[in-house]
Amino acid sequence: MATLCENIKNLSSAASFEPIDPQECLKYRNPGPNTAYLWPVDENELTRLQKVFDEESIDLAGTWVTRPRENCPSCGKREEFMDHVYTAAKTGVHGVSFMKAFITHEIPAVGTGGGRHDLVCSHCDSIGGEPCEWDYNESYMDFHSDKK
Ligand SMILES: [Zn+2]
Repeated sequence: MATLCENIKNLSSAASFEPIDPQECLKYRNPGPNTAYLWPVDENELTRLQKVFDEESIDLAGTWVTRPRENCPSCGKREEFMDHVYTAAKTGVHGVSFMKAFITHEIPAVGTGGGRHDLVCSHCDSIGGEPCEWDYNESYMDFHSDKK
């Protein structure tokens, strides 16, 4: 049986290599040392997350992270929420069941951070930029709240 990491690699997509929209990097909140930046989840990534977690419908428009997402310095893939899932599965910094509960909103999006940690690229397994973590105040944004 394929591991979660293998599943994520098998689902990898050319869409993950599209350039990061500079506009998205302007979406942030809490200016100052606790600034959180939006990492949008697009349709392509959402479809992959649903497959990885065997969920028919996930309402996740993006997550708030302590730095803007960047391109992987080794392979050029843009960082995604999927890399957080991959890192959790690979390093154990978060439990996989926690990740699923997080994105399916079974647990509140508040106070779910595990401290800043390296992010492992799900395409090439190298460590990306600065260690990061989710915003402690509210870690994700769903499509519903995005439309408010
Ligand atoms: Zn990479």
